[in-house]
Amino acid sequence: MLTDTEYEAMTTQTLEAKTHRVAAFEKLKCKECGAEYELQAKHVCDVCFGPVEVAYDYDFLRQTVTRETIAAGPNSIWRYRPFLPVATDNPIDVGTGMTPLVEAQRLGRRLGLKKLYIKNDAVNMPTLSFKDRVVSVALTRARELGFSTVSCASTGNLANSTAAIAAHAGLDCCVFIPADLEAGKVLGTLIYNPTVMAVKGNYDQVNRLCSEVANTHGWGFVNINLRPYYSEGSKTLGFEVAEQLGWQLPDHIVAPLASGSLFTKIYKGFQEFIKVGLVDDKHVRFSGAQAEGCSPIAQAYREGRDFITPVKPNTIAKSIAIGNPADGVYALDIAQKTNGNIESVNDREIVEGIKLLAETEGIFTETAGGTTIAVLKKLVEAGKIDPEETTVAYITGNGLKTQEAVQGEIGEPLTIEPKLDAFERALERSRTLERLEWQQVLV
Ligand SMILES: *Cc1c(COP(=O)(O)O)cnc(C)c1O
Repeated sequence: MLTDTEYEAMTTQTLEAKTHRVAAFEKLKCKECGAEYELQAKHVCDVCFGPVEVAYDYDFLRQTVTRETIAAGPNSIWRYRPFLPVATDNPIDVGTGMTPLVEAQRLGRRLGLKKLYIKNDAVNMPTLSFKDRVVSVALTRARELGFSTVSCASTGNLANSTAAIAAHAGLDCCVFIPADLEAGKVLGTLIYNPTVMAVKGNYDQVNRLCSEVANTHGWGFVNINLRPYYSEGSKTLGFEVAEQLGWQLPDHIVAPLASGSLFTKIYKGFQEFIKVGLVDDKHVRFSGAQAEGCSPIAQAYREGRDFITPVKPNTIAKSIAIGNPADGVYALDIAQKTNGNIESVNDREIVEGIKLLAETEGIFTETAGGTTIAVLKKLVEAGKIDPEETTVAYITGNGLKTQEAVQGEIGEPLTIEPKLDAFERALERSRTLERLEWQQVLV
């Protein structure tokens, strides 16, 4: 009898041998100095310590991929598999991706935008955040590289995703989180029964500890030594929007920034689709959203700097609270060169952003999404988004996971006896209250 791991290793090898090019990824390449490396678990360049990224053969992609071959693929991120850094034709597919692109007419009217869309990753599978995309790719690659234990340094959502998808794939899992995370994020990890290390410190301290563990334990950390593969998963946020808009790019996107990775990969996704001829070339403006209590990239943008000064996070938007963002300078560069913006909003505005999206579109997002909506509003009010622009706001996480943020900020149910007259009286009372509130608004 083979153990699960032995069986897995064997089938993976057979698959790799059988597969004649299902993907176009060729090598790892340093983003700074261009040094090239084999396709291994490696995230830092030996020569200049810059970040390494996956490079592809775009000629091969141009010759083999069409709109039709993509549309005929699975209803998940894996329809874009040739653009993703995995060799297997049997990736871990738990239904991640192809989330709704919602035409947000009521929110658009409220803000004064004629063509506003919400990319709704609050309902991504399996754990209700965009992180399922990056983890599906990272763990598929981790399996190919022979890792049996996977791990991550997380602000919450990544731990949920890694634990869930590792459970599905039968991989051992140990995740690291800051000890002060929201209850929903902690529970949403523990339920999959991984080992959870709650570190007494902020995310940046968790991340430093994990870098040391990655060096000493030989584990696959999705966002550290597997980061070049992991980050490519975010390109699917760009691919899907292009396909869902009928194979066109939008004019303007607004997305949240933590490490800056997702923002830079939406850009890379759009560029790749242009490069291989799947969409027409277009100048897309990229705007980023941060919480004021952790806004190192927004601060650099405001001051016209090309470097990031790390900060100590203090905000309710914990999922995007990274004080020393690994891809900050690249995000900054994209916002600048596309004539976009990077803005920040305070915790009060974040809560208002969550409520505004819920009340106008029926989408309950977490604090990161509240940040995005509040920044969207701020940019429109400042005249930095044209009402005619086709604008896509990326909603990356689900509000049920950060209930603390809106506790005490929303209404309460009207508790009544099970009697018709009790109902009538309660209804009358609530209508009177509503009228009074309106009168207060009017005076
Ligand atoms: C992690 C996360 C982000 C930001 O991701 P980066 O790629 O690190 O910038 C945004 N929104 C949510 C909900 C997240 O969990």
